[in-house]
Amino acid sequence: MSALLEVSGLARHYPVKKGVLVQKQVGTVRAVDGVSFEVRRGETLALVGESGCGKSTTARLVLRLIEPSAGTIRFDGQDVTKVGGAAMRSLRRRIQIVFQDPYASLNPRLTVGEAIAEPMVVHGIGDNAARRAKVQELLRLVGLQPFHAERYPHEFSGGQRQRIGIARALSVEPDLVVCDEPVSALDVSIQAQVVNLMKDLQARLGLSYLFIAHDLAVVKHMADRIAVMYLGQVMEIGGKRELFANPRHPYTRALLAAIPHPDPARRGKVTPLGGDVPSPMAVPPGCRFHTRCPFAQDRCRSEVPALREVAPGHNAACHFAETLPDAGLDYSGGLT
Ligand code: SF4
Ligand code: MG
Repeated sequence: MSALLEVSGLARHYPVKKGVLVQKQVGTVRAVDGVSFEVRRGETLALVGESGCGKSTTARLVLRLIEPSAGTIRFDGQDVTKVGGAAMRSLRRRIQIVFQDPYASLNPRLTVGEAIAEPMVVHGIGDNAARRAKVQELLRLVGLQPFHAERYPHEFSGGQRQRIGIARALSVEPDLVVCDEPVSALDVSIQAQVVNLMKDLQARLGLSYLFIAHDLAVVKHMADRIAVMYLGQVMEIGGKRELFANPRHPYTRALLAAIPHPDPARRGKVTPLGGDVPSPMAVPPGCRFHTRCPFAQDRCRSEVPALREVAPGHNAACHFAETLPDAGLDYSGGLT
């Protein structure tokens, strides 16, 4: 599989200013602080981390809703930070988003049919008749009825609205869909249905997903590979099975240990992570995870660990990735 999206050294820093008449910069928020990953054709790369780790900012950078402070974003071989005009419009069609909140993301004044057709109108695709036919096809594709096109979003449940959001994203036949916590706002019983629909659509349409989530339980069924983010950087990245079976970063282990194992006999004792996530305005020196890491040594407080290969296709940013005790926990969360 070749890369569809390649992100390299991506950063987004915000100056923090104070003062009313004279503004003085008092600090910098390092929302995204040097992130590299790729999304291969037809795969799902999950970006996972606690809120504030920079995953949504990464999504907005990829969608070109905001400008990076540093780094490059290549899509299908093109540097997206350098293109303009027609090439930019084409990119905007080929990368679509499914939002977290299916209640807030649909305009209540548009019928479902109008909402789904809107991206086609924006991109000048088809005439009215062709768009109407496409809307019907998309509604069936996401498991809704063609007559639903005449209804309004408030007549639908959260899960149905997310299906409408997915149909809208697919209306312009994108290659990459950025999914920003698409099931986090849904009831647990509905989450699996939407995840299964997304997997099914991926297989049928050859889509690639950049799938953002705040815990590893959701991506257990969805991801091919997983990147774990903390305070604006990737701490660990690798294939899902490898990462669940052999997590090499203490932060990944903490996230995995938080997933309840379906078999109580195999559940380890979970030590919750101590302390709070530091402010992205005051990133700790050395390993940025050291203030919460149960394995931190002196070296961790001064020396930044490189994100390096610890097994084929598996990278971790920890000085002691190879020698961490495994604490007897079963991290697999029922995956194996
Ligand atoms: Fe913990 Fe040190 Fe590894 Fe950072 S480098 S994760 S502080 S052991
Ligand atoms: Mg978010």
